[in-house]
Amino acid sequence: MRYAIISDIHSNREALDAVLDDIGRRGAERVVCLGDVVGYGAEPGACLAEVRKRTELIVAGNHDWGAVGKVDLNFFNRSARTAAEWTAGELTEPERIFLAQLPLTLGQGGAEGFTAVHSTPDHPQEWRYILSIDEAEFQFERMAQPLCFVGHSHQPIAWQCHSGGRCSVVSREYLLMEPDRRYIVNVGSVGQPRDGDPRACYAVYDDQRREVVVHRVEYDVASAQGKILKAGLPRRLAERLASGL
Ligand code: ZN
Repeated sequence: MRYAIISDIHSNREALDAVLDDIGRRGAERVVCLGDVVGYGAEPGACLAEVRKRTELIVAGNHDWGAVGKVDLNFFNRSARTAAEWTAGELTEPERIFLAQLPLTLGQGGAEGFTAVHSTPDHPQEWRYILSIDEAEFQFERMAQPLCFVGHSHQPIAWQCHSGGRCSVVSREYLLMEPDRRYIVNVGSVGQPRDGDPRACYAVYDDQRREVVVHRVEYDVASAQGKILKAGLPRRLAERLASGL
């Protein structure tokens, strides 16, 4: 089975459409979404509709729950909070209900052979980031499955953990998994990359070949920026799409 794994779309319809077209061309059989469908960008409803239509599995992100009152917005920075409040006013009641009922984690039962979560497999509701080897090691010790896909930092990266507990960073673009190791893979962000590359980012996981390939896709950044400004959202949210930072 080939899974396309997308995360952190953030109401960026141009980026989402470009990624879904790319996924269609590559022929992945299932699409998994790791959350933050909404927040920051100008088209929450359109993105949510498209994600619901195209994905098999969706977990909640902090911005999804922030827009429906399930995450305290005092934990958000100023522009994130402004965008969350704006998004809350845009969502319809059925959209609110849908976002509120999303699970925090999928795959812990083992059906898919991997765990899908927005933040961390351990205590996902705390919305912590995995940015360092130490943070990855802490999560590896608590993982139910040998493979976990995460989003949240908007930076594609993969960590591996050897049977002896030693962890390291592996390639950010291509990963061939060894049978006796465990992996945490951050698939980057579709709608607001923060690794210095403004192109939309997602990953394809092939469970037969045991490989993960990160793909980058050009999209119409200027159009997404124009909609953010027109909606009256913070200018910084438009500007950062061009730099990918
Ligand atoms: Zn996010």
